[in-house]
Amino acid sequence: MKLFEFMAKELFAQYGIPIPRGKVVKSPEEAAEASREIGPVVVKSQILSGGRGKAGGIKFADTPQEAADMARSILGTDLKGFVVDTLLVEEKIKIEQELYLAITIDKAARSPILISSASGGMDIEELPEEKLVKHNIDVGIGLQPYLARELARKLGLTGAAAQQAAEIIVKLYKLFREKDTELVEINPLVVSGDKVLAADGKINIDDEALFRLDDSVPRTEERTELEQKAAALGISYVQLDGDIAVMANGAGITMATLDILQYYGGRPANFMDAGGGAGVEPTAKALEILLASKPRAILVNIFGGITRCDDVAKAFAQVKQTRGIDVPMVIRLVGTNQEEGVRILKENGIDSYRTIKEAVEKVVAITGTRAVE
Ligand code: GDP
Ligand code: MN
Repeated sequence: MKLFEFMAKELFAQYGIPIPRGKVVKSPEEAAEASREIGPVVVKSQILSGGRGKAGGIKFADTPQEAADMARSILGTDLKGFVVDTLLVEEKIKIEQELYLAITIDKAARSPILISSASGGMDIEELPEEKLVKHNIDVGIGLQPYLARELARKLGLTGAAAQQAAEIIVKLYKLFREKDTELVEINPLVVSGDKVLAADGKINIDDEALFRLDDSVPRTEERTELEQKAAALGISYVQLDGDIAVMANGAGITMATLDILQYYGGRPANFMDAGGGAGVEPTAKALEILLASKPRAILVNIFGGITRCDDVAKAFAQVKQTRGIDVPMVIRLVGTNQEEGVRILKENGIDSYRTIKEAVEKVVAITGTRAVE
C-alpha cells in the first residue's frame, strides 16, 4: 500500500524527522488561506505516484492569490493517470543541496538496504552506480548511530548538517522497521541553511502487515471503482489500458487468453477471472462489470469443467435481455453441457466459437490491431 506524500510526512514528523511547515487543502480558497499563514509556498499535488515535478504537478506561489491560481490550475486535472483532488501547500524552502535517502529490501541479500546519494532531486533512477552510497543493514544489530554518521560523511556532509542527516537516517530506519514498510524514501532530502529536512516523502507499506498496524498508519485505496466493485463480488479483476474486455474462468486460462489476444494484436482492457464453477447470477454480474468498463468489444473464453456452459450461456442471455449488450461480444465456449450452451447463445443471437484462435481473430478483426510489442 502506497501512502500519499502528506501521509508519509505525518509519519516522518511522528518519528522526529524534520519536514517543512505545510497544510493539506482541497480548494483554491484553502490554498490561499494556507499561503497567508505560511508565506511563499510550493503547491504539491497529492497522487500515489512520483515524478510530479516533471509532470507539472508541483508549482510555486509567492502570494495567496498565486497559491489560489496554482491550486485552481492543478485541482481536477489528470496527472499520471490520477485525478488530483488534494494538495499539500508547503513553505517554500531555499534549497542549497538535494540529497537522496531511501531504505528498501535487498531481496538478493535478504536484508534491508540503505541507498543514498549526494545528487538527489528528480532523476534518481538515472544516476550512475558510483554516485550511490549503499549499505546493507543487519536486522539483528540494526542501524547504529556511528554507521549513520559514517554514511552522512560519505554523502559529503560536514558539521551540523552531517549530524542532522545521521539522526534522520537512524529515525528513518526505525520507521522502516516499526511500520513494516517495503520502502521509505526521501527525495529530495534538503540542506537549507543550518537545517536538513525532508522536502518529499514516499512510503510503501507491506500489504500483508496491514492487519497488525494501528491507526497511526493511514489507509489508502489504489484500486479503481470497478476493481472495488468486482472485489466485493469475489471476482478477481484488474483494469488494464486496452479496449477489449476479457472474461475467462480460472487464473491460468485468463492469463493465457490475455497473452493470445496480445499476440494477435489486440489490447486487453482487463484481467478477469470469473472463477471456476460460477453459476448464472455471479457470471451475469461479472459481465455487467465488463460492460461498465465501456470496452470496444468483449472476449469470453470459457472451458467448462465444473463450470457449466449452459449456465454461462444463460447468464449472457439474461444480461442481453435485461440491460442489453451494446458492444460486440465474441465467445469461445467448450466443455460441460457445451451443446446446450451454444444453443442458448444462438437463440439469443450470440455466436460462439470452438477454438480460442477463431474467437481472438474475430475480436481483433472487429476492433483493429496494433503492432505487437
Ligand atoms: P516529485 O517530482 O513527485 O518527486 O516531487 P518533489 O516533491 O520531489 O518535488 C520535485 C522537485 O521540486 C524537487 O526535487 C525540488 O527541486 C523542487 N521542490 C520541491 N519542494 C520545494 C521547495 O520547497 N523549494 C524549492 N526551491 N524547490 C522545491
Ligand atoms: Mn521527489
